[in-house]
Amino acid sequence: MTEHLTHVWRPLPGSRHAFPASALKCSPDEQAESYCGIQVEAARLHTATEIDWIVEPTCSACWEILKNRS
Ligand SMILES: [Zn+2]
Repeated sequence: MTEHLTHVWRPLPGSRHAFPASALKCSPDEQAESYCGIQVEAARLHTATEIDWIVEPTCSACWEILKNRS
């Protein structure tokens, strides 16, 4: 299984979303898009804190999309 190399989970205000792993290689001022369609500055994918991980619930839309990918 190489699934852990294809996407990353990142907390955003509201919930924790999955992004393609390639989004981590974007320039900080580029827009990264989660699997459920939320766009954020790529820089924000690198600024998550441990507190964010604890308080934000997993995005069910991202989860479903990843679960149904083959
Ligand atoms: Zn999501």
